[in-house]
Amino acid sequence: MDNDIEKVLYSREEIAGAAKRIGKELTHDYEGRQPLVISVLKGAIFFTVDVLKEFDCYTDIDFVDVSSYHGGTESSGKVDLVREINTDIKGRDIILIEDIIDTGRTLEYMVNLLKQGGANDIKVCTLLDKPEGRVVDIKANYVGFNVPNEFVVGYGLDYNELYRNLPYVGILKPAVYQK
Ligand code: 5GP
Ligand code: MG
Ligand code: MG
Repeated sequence: MDNDIEKVLYSREEIAGAAKRIGKELTHDYEGRQPLVISVLKGAIFFTVDVLKEFDCYTDIDFVDVSSYHGGTESSGKVDLVREINTDIKGRDIILIEDIIDTGRTLEYMVNLLKQGGANDIKVCTLLDKPEGRVVDIKANYVGFNVPNEFVVGYGLDYNELYRNLPYVGILKPAVYQK
C-alpha cells in the first residue's frame, strides 16, 4: 500500500499525540458529566478508539453511518443515513467524532439529526479538517490537524473502501484514482 502514497502527512506517532491531546482536553472539559460519544462509521473508528483510551470519563458509545462520497474523491453533496443511532439522545451531551470535515455537509446533516433527536449539547471532534473545502458554515470544537485540499487516506480514511488500515495519514497518488 505504501507505494500508492505520494506523501505521508501525519505519522503514527503524530496521530497518537493528537489523540492523546484531545482525550485529555475532553477529560478536562467533561469533568462531572456523562456524555454520549457518537462515532461516525467507518472512517472515525481508529481515531475514536485512540481518543477514548485517553478520555477518563463515564461515557457510553454509539455509532452512526452516513454516506456522501459513493466511492469517488469528491463529495456528492447529498448525504444518506446508512445506520441510525440506537441510543436515546434526548437531553444528552454528545461528542460526535468524525474522520474529516471537508464541505461540512455531512457534519451539518448529523448535527441537525442530533438536534431533532433532542440532544442537549453537541460538540464535534475531528481527526482532520480541510477548512478550504468548506461550503457550509460549521466548525469542529476539537481538531487533530488541518489538512490541505488534497484527497487523503489512512488511519480510517478510505478510497473505495481500501487504505483504512494504513497506520498513518497520507496523500493518495492521483494516478491511483485516475486509473
Ligand atoms: P463533507 O460532507 O464535509 O464534504 O465530507 C465529509 C466526508 O467526506 C468525510 O466524513 C469523509 O468520509 C469524506 N472525505 C472528505 N475528504 C476526504 C478525503 O480527503 N479523503 C477521504 N478518504 N475521505 C474524505
Ligand atoms: Mg466520514
Ligand atoms: Mg469514504
